Amino acid sequence: MTDATYTISENARNFLDRRMHSLLIDGERIPAVSDEGIEVRNPSTGEVLGYLASGGASDVDKAVKAARAAFEGEWSGWTPYQRQALLFRAYDLIGKRFDEIAEIESLDMGVPIAKARAARPAAQRMVQFFASMALSIRGETVQNGLPGDVMTMTLKAPVGVVGGIIPWNGSLTALWWIVGAVMATGCTTVLKPATEASLSVLRLVEMLHEIGLPKGVVNVVTGHGATAGDALARHAGVDRIAFTGSTETGRKIIDASKTNIKRLQLELGGKSPDIVFADADLDKAVPGAAMGIFNNTGQICFAGSRIIVDRRIVEEFTARLAAFSKTLRVGHSLDPETQLGPVISERQRDIVMSYVEAGRSEGAQLVAGGTPVEGLGGGYYVPPTVFGNVDMGMTIAREEIFGPVVSVIPFDDVEEAIRIGNQTEYGLAGAVWSENISTALRVAERIHSGAMWVNCYGLIDPMVGFNGAKMSGYGAKGGLAHLDTYLYTKSVYIQR
Ligand code: NAD
Repeated sequence: MTDATYTISENARNFLDRRMHSLLIDGERIPAVSDEGIEVRNPSTGEVLGYLASGGASDVDKAVKAARAAFEGEWSGWTPYQRQALLFRAYDLIGKRFDEIAEIESLDMGVPIAKARAARPAAQRMVQFFASMALSIRGETVQNGLPGDVMTMTLKAPVGVVGGIIPWNGSLTALWWIVGAVMATGCTTVLKPATEASLSVLRLVEMLHEIGLPKGVVNVVTGHGATAGDALARHAGVDRIAFTGSTETGRKIIDASKTNIKRLQLELGGKSPDIVFADADLDKAVPGAAMGIFNNTGQICFAGSRIIVDRRIVEEFTARLAAFSKTLRVGHSLDPETQLGPVISERQRDIVMSYVEAGRSEGAQLVAGGTPVEGLGGGYYVPPTVFGNVDMGMTIAREEIFGPVVSVIPFDDVEEAIRIGNQTEYGLAGAVWSENISTALRVAERIHSGAMWVNCYGLIDPMVGFNGAKMSGYGAKGGLAHLDTYLYTKSVYIQR
């Protein structure tokens, strides 16, 4: 099977036919100083899709200067209504041209095309949320006890240039969390997408310029993390970093950002518990927990990678989970029937398979998957894999695998379920399945994480958002708090 087996729209094809993809600085496509081209492979076939420009420190410097000039230029005079109108145009753009972006994302990242296309309403909801936020920024008048006739108030102002460093597992969502907030607040940004999935980001930002995004407000520097990413995190002209990625890279960003005491938002890794009680409705809990881990081929920060199950039903649950996982269709991302695409790269497949090996050798019981999928050509496929009888001493129960591998861990009572749930250095998310509302709320309250789901998994609405706790990072995604991190507060004292 090759990429030529599937047809894509003429626009997506024209974009991919460029082969060598430039940086996007000050509204212009420009080459990087380095002439290294970073190879981009289609994870469904292993075929080369094109090359990314390898941005370095001087390219980042150029982009930050463009973002600063835009921040201080005409963009700073745009009224909230104008910025909101731009977001409305972005909403329409997604309505009309999302399929092109979905095809590019599907080929580049391996997300199944049906799922990529179905992401349109969620993308539009994010834009709608930020459009409403554009008109909601406000300070306060505050009482004071000062002698004389003094009036005091707080003003909110945009923080300035935001460095947006994003991962490969959901580039478009990561983009909107940043670009939506930038448009709503009047900040500007330099985005540094991951080398494994930069193409949809480049194309979408090009399209935003076509609908009137002023030059320099959103710039894109592709390149390696250790060079382009590090230069952005270190740059003294950047006021704030919005980072989504691994906890390990998060630490490096904290270190690099010391230069000018940047504000940081860090959305990091996870090892989320998905707790199933004996009174759960298994017709919902089995597929719900399965897709809580297997969605996006397990490459989701909040994936429910530890399913913690009441010992009284663990045998039945594990058998049903294994049976369900075997029905999931693994295949080329452009096949409309595909439910699970490949993992992002050969390297990622090897990492995931090394965890499968660790599970086997440490005594977990393999009940589904576990061997590489045959007959799909040169792509990086891992089948949905279920391990039963896992305990928290095993590597697969402790480390973030970032692939379609799940551990089923038994518990005896509520307290033990909560203890196992919290037995992780991460604190991103979790879920509980029970028909007893008291049990569900008790668990939701006591799991130390930034989001909890009850009788469902993975729902996200930008009005509500989610957070991180422990080593999953800090800084809200969504909700009013999200906007606040793109603003700073100024206290004003007025002597009358
Ligand atoms: P990663 O940390 O390897 O890379 C993320 C981004 O950081 C990439 O753009 C990369 O090029 C850049 N980078 C790498 N080294 C850098 C450095 N020294 N300085 C600056 N930038 C650098 O993560 P990944 O493998 O792309 O993504 C998977 C990870 O992201 C997982 O751990 C996952 O849980 C996490 N994630 C978290 C969230 C969340 O909201 N909490 C969402 C998605 C993904």
